[in-house]
Amino acid sequence: MWKLRFGMAWKAVMLLLVCAAVTSAADFGYGVQRGPGTWARDYEQCNGKHQSPININKMAVIKMEYPKMNYYNFDLRPKSVTLTNNGHTVLVTMNFTEGKEPRLSGGPLKIDAVYQFEQFHFHWGENDTLGSEDMINNQRYPAELHVVMRSLKYPDFASALDQEQGVVVLAFFFKVVERPLNPYYGEFVEMLSGIRGKDSSKNLVEPLPLWKFLSTYSTRYYSYIGSLTTPPCSEEVLWIDYQDAIYISEYQLNLFRNLTASDEHLKNNFRPIQNLNDRLIYENVPKDNLQTNWMPPPSAAPLTSSLNVIILLGIAMSVLLKGHILAAF
Ligand SMILES: [Zn+2]
Repeated sequence: MWKLRFGMAWKAVMLLLVCAAVTSAADFGYGVQRGPGTWARDYEQCNGKHQSPININKMAVIKMEYPKMNYYNFDLRPKSVTLTNNGHTVLVTMNFTEGKEPRLSGGPLKIDAVYQFEQFHFHWGENDTLGSEDMINNQRYPAELHVVMRSLKYPDFASALDQEQGVVVLAFFFKVVERPLNPYYGEFVEMLSGIRGKDSSKNLVEPLPLWKFLSTYSTRYYSYIGSLTTPPCSEEVLWIDYQDAIYISEYQLNLFRNLTASDEHLKNNFRPIQNLNDRLIYENVPKDNLQTNWMPPPSAAPLTSSLNVIILLGIAMSVLLKGHILAAF
């Protein structure tokens, strides 16, 4: 009996210790107390030599023509889309039927490597002059979207970390315009008021496919090897920064700025620029310079061809009819 009680007490102590470790491990921020300058105390890798974000100097990139990037299932509707305020960002997860998850191959990725969607999230600033993590020619954008994908060589995200190109992040910059043509962000940003406090979640009423959250075109991008921009700052992450921005209004961006973490406003959740050191940055410059978008809606191609058939049938009918009418005269 004593043994049993002691065993239970021991288990409780262990559980408390584990919880404490988890709490402190997750406890990072962007302020003075727990800000980026302090992360390396608990997470040594944050002092690494290949960290993100970086400044991309457009004059110093190596121009490449990468193979075509293949985007699979980016146009498939998920079963659900969940928005969570985790105290660091708006984290968006999507629930798909198994095997229908968005996947990625080609481009600067290793031959035969296939990556699967994990989550996407945002970084933003308190005003329009800051917010993005990577910079282009020392310019910051007001916000940035990160789509995190994991190599299918690894069974889960944790085991893909620190592996050579185990994780890929697709990065998109936001630009503020007066009347943005982004109807898909409309419902999304309105739902942010429902997750203002830390650890609150909501599901999108209409689960939208991934590509509707991205910029319009997908062929022009920069690529480099970096790290996660939050602890544990794991390296060997392949970054793909798209040049085509996502448009958002000041009103929509303010809905992000209204979120809170603990008692404070959740804003300026971006890490300062890290040294490039010995790394090279590549730019994909497609030969034909065609801007292609992610994926046309699946019905577009068949619809176009059936329309063509209808038009051709119509022409044929009218020719026949004309012939018939002419013959009658
Ligand atoms: Zn991020």
